[in-house]
Amino acid sequence: MRRIQVLDTRLANQIAAGEVVERPASVVKEALENALDAGADQIDIEVDAGGVQLIRVRDNGIGMARDDVPLAFARHATSKIANLEDLESVTTLGFRGEALASIASVARVTLSSNDSSDSSRGVSAQCEGREMAVTLRPVPHPRGTTLEVRDLFYNTPARRKFLRTEKTEFSHIDEVVKRQALARPDVSFTLRHNGRAVHQYRAADDASQLPRRIESICGQPFFEASVAIDRDLGGLRLCGWVGLPTYSRAQADAQYFFVNGRVIRDKLVTHAIRQAYRDVLFHGRHPAYALFLELDPAQVDVNVHPTKHEVRFRASREIHGFIFGTLNQALADVRPSDDAVSASPYLATSFATPIPQQAGIGLGFPGAERAWQIQGSGDAGAHAKALAQLYANPGRDVTNARAVAQASSDAADAEVPPMGFALAQLAGIYILAENASGLVLVDMHAAHERITYERLKQARDDRGIRSQPLLVPQSVGLSSREVAAVEEHSEALQQLGFQVAVSGEEAVVIREVPQALANANLDELLRHVLGDLIDLGSSDRVAAQEDALLATMACHTSVRANRRLTVQEMNGLLRDMEVTERSGQCNHGRPTWVALSVSDLDKLFLRGR
Ligand code: ADP
Ligand code: MG
Repeated sequence: MRRIQVLDTRLANQIAAGEVVERPASVVKEALENALDAGADQIDIEVDAGGVQLIRVRDNGIGMARDDVPLAFARHATSKIANLEDLESVTTLGFRGEALASIASVARVTLSSNDSSDSSRGVSAQCEGREMAVTLRPVPHPRGTTLEVRDLFYNTPARRKFLRTEKTEFSHIDEVVKRQALARPDVSFTLRHNGRAVHQYRAADDASQLPRRIESICGQPFFEASVAIDRDLGGLRLCGWVGLPTYSRAQADAQYFFVNGRVIRDKLVTHAIRQAYRDVLFHGRHPAYALFLELDPAQVDVNVHPTKHEVRFRASREIHGFIFGTLNQALADVRPSDDAVSASPYLATSFATPIPQQAGIGLGFPGAERAWQIQGSGDAGAHAKALAQLYANPGRDVTNARAVAQASSDAADAEVPPMGFALAQLAGIYILAENASGLVLVDMHAAHERITYERLKQARDDRGIRSQPLLVPQSVGLSSREVAAVEEHSEALQQLGFQVAVSGEEAVVIREVPQALANANLDELLRHVLGDLIDLGSSDRVAAQEDALLATMACHTSVRANRRLTVQEMNGLLRDMEVTERSGQCNHGRPTWVALSVSDLDKLFLRGR
């Protein structure tokens, strides 16, 4: 072995760069963070060849004092914190003082800045050699800072090999800019690639313009198929937009979560959100959301990872509960209301990306597509047939139902409920109803299943989780960490219906279990519950498994397709839907109803053109 020696500055920085600078997008991320920390409200990003050749980020922030410019390249040199207390409640995006040093060690970097309004007083800095000596020269530069990074990884060929195609690298940059732009609607961003303008996000003047930024980044379909939330509770605030279950995605790619303006990926957060969607999302689909969590900076540790993508919450259990509770309520409230059933944006878009991939009926009329893309089951032929049947045989229940609808609506002061009154049953599967704005179609089996399921859950919640003693207590081998969790969380376990006693360093005995799950694989259930308690401070496994059981029960007790319903029964179902939480989706996340307003129908028949 060789003797110990101190590494030269560049090499030391290159080692640090291994963590901080993974690809061009990492450089853009660090540069944007610095610009935002400097208070910029206009940031221009220019990249060539996916950022490998050139990345230039120019901001109009406060700039740097002349003497500070060389220091910016030194590792562990920062203007953002000065002591440990600062670190514990840091409000800036940066604080580690290593980004510029790392970037400058693996690329040709020029940093130009000016902290005065006299643009002739700018300076520009470059650093060279193994010790990264900084040379300064005067340049004209307006107030603010420009970071220019050329030939990324020119001196670290191993790293360069890991770069992907220009297109891929640019897409990462684009994503970084989008995320930062979402977090800061008060700042203008422009992005150019190979001399072409790609994005221009204009600053919003006030908070009411935030929706516009969301819409331009996440897309109109997401925006229209999402519900806005904003909840404040004991120093925590969660606001933003969550996609309706019917606007779900095949990939987890439309998920944006910010903690105090910082883009983060966090297991606890993801878990809380998934749990909120558990009951309404089609199997294997991912929810879409843009959510902003704000809390006292001292309550969250941001110094967990060099890229600052991860955080650690001090009160993780409360945060988990708060996020879950807020979203769960927001999604539960999605049910037919007057607004929803008549406002066409909800209707048109909640099914704009139905699941599984929709097959439009394609009647061949211009403008017809949108109205008919709303069918979820994807069987175009059957729908067409169903339609043909309806029009070939319009008599049936219709007259009768109209009369009933008429009578009841007269009684209720001509007030038509959101889901309207039943007209007829179609193909033994669908209920056709008329409301104030037009036609409502209901998948009666799916709707009934949801209603039954929600009732079963409600009954369970009212009486709590019941436990049942095991005839023969079961001993389970666990890791010492899991055994410690059994002791620490004994109360939580009891609330979940378990009674577990520690019987050795790596063994416990289960004495009581949740009643409904007495036949489950108890070993595995307990291990999963403990895993949750260790990771998240709480567990929803028992409820989730019970829910699954209740869902199966609901499925078997619900009206089956092909049973003829009386008009009264149909109206009863419609009324139940109006008051049942989550009634917009069946237990498997498929939509339970769609609506076609008279104007949708007019379009379909080319009326009024
Ligand atoms: P950090 O952001 O963690 O402090 P950096 O290496 O990213 O570390 O930057 C070092 C210092 O350089 C910052 O603390 C800041 O004072 C200064 N700096 C970097 N970029 C800018 C900028 N765009 N505007 C003003 N100051 C900047
Ligand atoms: Mg920084």
